[in-house]
Amino acid sequence: MTDHREPLSSVLETIGETPLVDVHDAPDAVPVYAKLESFNPGASVKDRIGKYMLERMLERGDVGEGGTVVEPTAGNTGIGLAVAAGQLGLNAVFVVPERFSVEKQQLMRALGAEVVNTPSEEGMGLAIDRAHQIAEELDDAVVPQQFSNPLNVEAHYETTAPEIDAALDGEVGAVVAGCGTGGTLMGLAEYFRERDPDTYVAAVEPAGSAYREFLGEDVEHEEYKTEGIGTHDIDRNELFDPEIVDDIIAVPDREVHEEMGRLAAEEGQLVASSAAANAIAAKRVARDIRDGAIDAPHDAVATIFCDSSERYLSKGVYRSFEEWEG
Ligand code: PMP
Repeated sequence: MTDHREPLSSVLETIGETPLVDVHDAPDAVPVYAKLESFNPGASVKDRIGKYMLERMLERGDVGEGGTVVEPTAGNTGIGLAVAAGQLGLNAVFVVPERFSVEKQQLMRALGAEVVNTPSEEGMGLAIDRAHQIAEELDDAVVPQQFSNPLNVEAHYETTAPEIDAALDGEVGAVVAGCGTGGTLMGLAEYFRERDPDTYVAAVEPAGSAYREFLGEDVEHEEYKTEGIGTHDIDRNELFDPEIVDDIIAVPDREVHEEMGRLAAEEGQLVASSAAANAIAAKRVARDIRDGAIDAPHDAVATIFCDSSERYLSKGVYRSFEEWEG
């Protein structure tokens, strides 16, 4: 384990070992704890997979030093991969649909990556196709493809989950996390189900997103503002295993917006929309455990605060709901 009080040789060593903090308005009997992933150097949960995937892919020889990483990404994964690529001697190219936060794209460029934009209307599908096209045209290039790469899940199984387990002395009864790729939740679920097969597992998505189709529900697809989680095409979410989840909780943008404001004003937590969605869902699970509606083997509920609101200020996250929506 890295001791952050000692001098470190590179920023890569500062990834992980993030703080775990109590979320205040959960029931006393069933506390909710959130892992503050904005403490990573690229300021999101995705630094973990950036480092983990690239180190493993270099070890395996999927790409050599001086080669290029090409990834379709909404932003945070690009930043995480760019931080790691720069330190591991790799070039980086990211294919980003235009609608995603400009702050993230600026950060990727600052870290030395090239950013290629695709039209927002074409969604992530086109970005994925373009990434593969670009990689084929380069000499030594690899597409980690976070949506289907088991290393994404493994990064959380090997780092995020054991850190939470150690901090809570084995008292985790439920894990609740928003799913973009599903990598974070699947890694946590696999780890804690091994510790105790009765661990309760809940996925979180914005209302209007289609993850609940995995459970056979009819979902009306709608656009949502909550960023980094959700899907409109479950066929692409290859890592998500519906067998492992007990529930998929949909949180409307309006509640997310209110909770982002509350977390900042009452708890000093400058966290973004996916973190607010996770907080809402985790508190719901905690209340259900307290009321006996959910059986969980222990009382603590663990969730993730994936990144900071600062990354989305240009989108008006702290202005009125209508301004954020518009
Ligand atoms: N929140 C934010 C802000 C993200 O960028 C992501 C990744 N897209 C997630 C949550 C979800 O993480 P995962 O891909 O591991 O499901």
